[in-house]
Amino acid sequence: MVQYKKNLGQNFLIDLNKINEIINNIPNLDLKGEIFLEVGPGKGALTKEITKRNFVIAIEIDKKLTDYLKEEIKENICLLNLDFLDVNLKKLLKKFEKVNFVSNLPYYISTKIIFKILEEEKIQNVSVMLQKELVERILAKPKTKTYGRLSVSINTFFEIKKEIRVPKECFYPKPKIDSSFIILKKKDIKIDKIKYLAFIKECFANKRKTLLNSLKNSNSIYLNKVKDFLELNKINILTRAEEISVNFYLLMWDYIKQ
Ligand code: SAM
Repeated sequence: MVQYKKNLGQNFLIDLNKINEIINNIPNLDLKGEIFLEVGPGKGALTKEITKRNFVIAIEIDKKLTDYLKEEIKENICLLNLDFLDVNLKKLLKKFEKVNFVSNLPYYISTKIIFKILEEEKIQNVSVMLQKELVERILAKPKTKTYGRLSVSINTFFEIKKEIRVPKECFYPKPKIDSSFIILKKKDIKIDKIKYLAFIKECFANKRKTLLNSLKNSNSIYLNKVKDFLELNKINILTRAEEISVNFYLLMWDYIKQ
């Protein structure tokens, strides 16, 4: 019997109907030769099903769970006992052309994991379980309270294909809030991801300030060009980052990138 560790965000999926619904919606699962990268396989609720059809690289921080899974799943898996945040993805994925990302994310580092995978060029589809609040931030529209860095960063590079609501009763131990499993598909956007994401971070560095003040505070190299761009497009220079749409950020980037 494996005990759960609250500090590692261990809320295991136990509802078999929900597990089936999720599995049936994961893109590319039945395509031959696809690679799935999973963070936090836990006791294998998703991993057992995925490895029946395709190959999984699973990264689990908890040694006990890793040992448990080694006994449970013998085929189609490369199981690594590591902290995902320490993993060098470039190195790990070197020999693969493209990879699908799957995870019931540990909630205490969900955002950090998302930003890490956003920077990885090879990740095509992202199928992840997130707490409701985070999903609301991802789906948020400009000029709303929840629209921010996460919304812009994700929606620039991914299209949201599906949301599966997952009530808290589907997990053990039961978390305080409901979750959703969302499926994201990579858009065909050819820009320097790392530089663009760093720029978006600067734009939202101080939510209560105007966009230009936020960039000034971040000592952004893009400050003057953004100012030019706003003036050129007759946009109020007091505009805030949360008032700007993803498409407009992309137009702005096209103008300011060096
Ligand atoms: N996939 C399982 C499921 O759906 O039942 C478990 C999901 S549980 C929400 C999150 C998992 O992530 C746990 O197994 C936990 O030990 C693991 N985890 C937490 N922090 C991690 C990290 N930094 N790197 C890798 N795995 C981590």
